[in-house]
Order: sequence, then structure tokens, then C-alpha cells
Amino acid sequence: MKYFPIFLSVQNRRILVSGGGAAAVAKLRLLLKTEARITVFATQPAPEISAWADAGRLMLAPRGLERADLRDAALLYAADEDAAQDARIAAMGAEAGVLTNIVDNLDGSSFLTPAIVDRDPVTIAIGTEGAAPVLARSIKAGLEERLPQTLGILARAAKAFRPLAERLAPGRVRRAFWAEYYDYSGPKALNASGEAALPDALNALLSRHMSAPAPVGRVDLVGAGPGDPDLLTLKARKALDAADVVIHDRLVTPEILELARREATIIEAGKTGFGPAMQQDDINTLMIEHARAGAHVVRLKSGDPAVFGRLDEELDALTAAGIDWQIVPGITAASAAVAQIGQSFTKRQRNSSVRLLTGHDVAGFAEHDWRALARAGEVAAIYMGKRSARFVQGRLLMHGADPATPVTVVENASRPDSRLQAVTLADLPASLDGVDGPAVLLLGLAPRAAQPATATAHPKELAL
Ligand code: SAH
Repeated sequence: MKYFPIFLSVQNRRILVSGGGAAAVAKLRLLLKTEARITVFATQPAPEISAWADAGRLMLAPRGLERADLRDAALLYAADEDAAQDARIAAMGAEAGVLTNIVDNLDGSSFLTPAIVDRDPVTIAIGTEGAAPVLARSIKAGLEERLPQTLGILARAAKAFRPLAERLAPGRVRRAFWAEYYDYSGPKALNASGEAALPDALNALLSRHMSAPAPVGRVDLVGAGPGDPDLLTLKARKALDAADVVIHDRLVTPEILELARREATIIEAGKTGFGPAMQQDDINTLMIEHARAGAHVVRLKSGDPAVFGRLDEELDALTAAGIDWQIVPGITAASAAVAQIGQSFTKRQRNSSVRLLTGHDVAGFAEHDWRALARAGEVAAIYMGKRSARFVQGRLLMHGADPATPVTVVENASRPDSRLQAVTLADLPASLDGVDGPAVLLLGLAPRAAQPATATAHPKELAL
């Protein structure tokens, strides 16, 4: 983040605009929404600017900007649409220590004006650090459509009511009150009787919430998918939005944790495939304690919680403690991996079943029906297979598997740093040496785009 977004207090502060042409007019349309005192320096102001000056909405100085004008200014816009003049004005601003923007010139500016969605006092600022103005505009258009025009009115009434709402317990109880106001009671009262009806609606809602029973905690066991936040289900997003407490495994990516409600308590349970981990009992106790305290707990697991996720142990503990739970499925790592190599798990005349197996479990190397797996055309996704690759290879070859059987190693599936290696069963253990991230081994599948894998001494690396 090269630019840090903030909301600057400009009420009664001075904002200066140098220039009187189209660029100045465009900025002024935005600036006039603020409560700042605006002065425009222009010898030939556009008619709009003169009209705004006549209406007392801004001050017009029919001359060039001078050093002395900059005293106590909050912001300066260089909008003369002349590179040399803009640079001169910006240099004056910099010297005076005033935040300065040259319109449409990122490099010479000390701040940017974002695209703005205005539902005053709710304002949404969208910036792309100059990288993609078109994208900023399309995000803005999307938000404009989604956010009702009345949002600002609802928020103003809410602001006045905040001290009263503090009679509700902070956290979940208070949030439920505001959620109902914005989603339902507020818009309803506004539609029926206008803005004046909002205080009564808020009062009625508050009495109802004051007498509501204490919230009951629960646990959602949510699949976080393989890492790409776009692969979260809508249900998972909603659960993260609403969570009071998020207890996550180490494999859950920071980008996904970013989506959790800002006020949520985030706890890392540290579970990866193996390696140092919080004890399962401790995780169970943590979930139960938070839920008993009335919290909405999201137990966030990588991929699908029902695939090698030790889900049953957690469900048994919750059930025994009498805590309500639900499972929100996620996209398992193997699904992301197979999508990435452009293959399908099952294919007519090749295989009509697929196995998800682990190379290693708590008890050590995991045994499977190797004879069946060794047959030509079999497909399996091997989880936690890095350490057990040699064991898996040995077992399969012993049961007659062709050493040239394709295997694709998909590391960090669905993430920007993902890597593929298309190898053969003969090469498998060596190809795993440099693999640091979580990886799924796809037995019996080669990337669709790759050459047919042959038994070579060197694994073929395909950067993504
Ligand atoms: N419940 C998870 C699996 C947890 S076990 C799921 O459904 O995906 C942990 C193993 O999952 C890792 O050792 C690795 O084999 C696999 N894994 C998890 N995320 C992965 C990713 N992004 N890319 C490749 N493999 C991944």
C-alpha cells in the first residue's frame, strides 16, 4: 500500500484550487459537497465557477495563487491544466507543507482524490493508486447500484441515537440491534412516514432488544477453501462477516482472515497437516467456552472441513457440550488442484471413481488398497503426501504400478505462488524436495497442456 486512505476533517478549513477551467470545475463539484471554505484562483473562471462564487458557495480570487494564500490551507489543487504552471503551484504547496494534488498527475501529487460513493455521512472512497481508474469507476458504479440513496438518512438518524443504543451490551447484542435497524426497521419506517419517523422506530426497536433474551452461542465449522478468497462460498463469507470469534488452522490464508469482521477475535489453532499444533482438546475447549459465552464462533478450516479435517472429533465435543453447530462445506484442495491442471477427476472409459487419500496420518504412514490404486487409469488425490512420497511410490510399484504413471504435484493450489510439477511415479520423491507449501499429489493425471509425461530423470517444472 503506497497510499494510506484516511478521511480528512475539512469542516471550516481552507481548500485552495488554482485554475478555472474544466479540470477545476470537475474537482469543485466534489469539493462543494464538503463543509470546507473553498477559494479558487483564476483570472478567467469558467461560468460555473463564477456562478458558485455569486451564490456564495466559494470565494473567487481573480488572480494567481501566491505564497501567502497558502497559510493554514488544508489542501491545494493545482488545476491549471498547464504542466509548468501546475508544477510551480505544487512546488509552492510542498514548500508551505500543504497537501497538494496536481489534477491527473500522480507523480507530482502528495495525495490522490479517490472515486467516491456519497451517502453522506457514509462515504466510500475507492483508490487504485493510479493503476486502474477504469476499475475504480466500475467498482463505484456497482456500489452506487447496491447502496440505497436513503442510506445517508438512516446513518444520520443512527448517529444521533448512538448514545441511547449504548444501553445494549457491546458486541453481538448491539450489532443485532443495528443490523435490524439498517436491514429492516429503518427502511420500513422511512418508507412509511419519512425521516421524522426514524427516532420513534429506533426507540421501539431498542425497547424490544432491551427485553430480548441473552444470545445463544453456536459454532459454524466453515471450509475456507484452498486459499483463493474468491473460492469461498457465499455462506462462508456471511459466517465470517458475522463471527465474534474465528478459530483457524494455519493453512488458512491471511487474505481470507482479512474478510473476518473487524471486531472479531482471531485465534490461530496452528493445525497444519502435522507439525506443532494446538492440542485437539484445547481447540475443542476453546470453541465450547466461546460459544457458552454467547459468541458466534467460526471454526475455519482449510479446504473442506469434512476432508482430512478431524471434523468428527470437534463435532462430538460440541454435541457433548450441547452446543449448536452447522457445517459449511468448502472447496477441497484436490478440486482446486485438478481445476488448475485442466483435468477432471473422473472420465468415461478411464476411471469411474476417484480416491482422496492421505499419505500420512497421526499414526504414521497410511495403508491403502495399493493393488487397486496401482491399476492403469486409477486417479487419486494424495493429501499430506510430501513426507510419504517415497513410501507411496514404493507401495505402488510393489503392486505393479507402471513407473511412467503420470503424477502432478500441485503446490499452493489456487494461490498466486502456486507451482505445478508434472512428473512420473518413478521421479516422484525427488520432485518434492523443493516443495515448501501445502501440496496435493494427483496420481494418474498430467496437466492437460503438458507433453505426455515420460520417465525422465528430471522432473519437468512448469511455472504458472
Ligand atoms: N481440509 C483440507 C485438507 C487439510 S489436510 C482440504 O479439504 O483441502 C492438509 C493438506 O491439504 C495439506 O498437507 C495438503 O496436502 C492439502 N492442501 C491444503 N491446501 C492446499 C493447497 N492450497 N494446495 C495444495 N494442497 C493443499
